[in-house]
Amino acid sequence: MTPPFFLDAHLDLALNALEWNRDLTRPITEIRAAETGLRDKAGRGRGTVCLPEMRRGRVGLAVVTQLARVNRNEGVNPVAVWQSPTQAWAMTQGQLAWYRAMEEAGEIKMIATKADLEKHVEHWKNGQTSVIGCILSLEGADSLITPGHLEMAYAQGLRAVGPAHYGPGRYAQGTASTGGLPPLGRELLAEMDRLGMILDVTHLSDDCFWEALKIFAGPVWASHSNCRALVPGQRQLSDDQIRALLERDAVIGAALDCWMLAPDWVQGQTSSEERGLRLGAVVEHIDHICQIAGNTRHVGLGSDLDGGFGREQSPCDLDTIADVGHLHDLLQARGWSEQDLKNFAHGNFLRILRRALA
Ligand SMILES: [Zn+2]
Repeated sequence: MTPPFFLDAHLDLALNALEWNRDLTRPITEIRAAETGLRDKAGRGRGTVCLPEMRRGRVGLAVVTQLARVNRNEGVNPVAVWQSPTQAWAMTQGQLAWYRAMEEAGEIKMIATKADLEKHVEHWKNGQTSVIGCILSLEGADSLITPGHLEMAYAQGLRAVGPAHYGPGRYAQGTASTGGLPPLGRELLAEMDRLGMILDVTHLSDDCFWEALKIFAGPVWASHSNCRALVPGQRQLSDDQIRALLERDAVIGAALDCWMLAPDWVQGQTSSEERGLRLGAVVEHIDHICQIAGNTRHVGLGSDLDGGFGREQSPCDLDTIADVGHLHDLLQARGWSEQDLKNFAHGNFLRILRRALA
């Protein structure tokens, strides 16, 4: 069976274009070759994501991020962390400019309404397009100068917000930090509710996770999160958190970053070849959620494949994003029905999007 088209709920395309200086319209071999000799970031010369590879893997729809953190205490870091919210806002506006330029070039289509979503889905189902649909999401809300800036971002097409990223944030505490929502965060969640936006709980500290679910009434997803029962650590969702998400009819996107797939992974040291870490590990996380839910309605793909790493931190049987089709084969081998497979590939995340964009 040919895999259905995929919706990837988490890619940092614009960050790769602007901060890694990658021309994502080029073949992956060219992008890798252009980075020969560069040592500024782990993952140089090993990228797995570009628009041609997304098309080859039938990743026809993606939730793509704007992303810029603020933390004065981390010192002056050329691009990853900004000294002020105004600088971070300008960075995310630059990222938006790149998405719009890609749209003008006919490479992608920005999707912010239900009508556009349905038209795009029909075209991919019928093989009538190779344009990649993109839904805008903000990963970490630091760059919103005030909660009032959210309305401006919404007008620009933003439809989902993950209030936190790494460390303490202006609106929420993120990965590897503790503590609840600051007053600004509670204000932001109320504004998200008013505008009808999706809450992305990925990266929230445990305290913020529970508080946000209590305050926020709208649609929820975890765009790129795996299971803490399989890989200990606060970056993953506990079974209690998974159950709370199921009660909200949320969907959880499986992340393909080895660090979140294997409990013994040491960044910069472990190799997926030597460790024998394959895409089958992703299936274990997907299966764990399905076992808790008793169905396949809450899992999807949130690959994060361009989230600051490349092949060195990806399953060894994945060369590029085009290989996500293997997940389909692995699930099929486990006896998943055609409907189950479609749920995973795009159906579940589409259910949340249809609700949110209506
Ligand atoms: Zn992330």
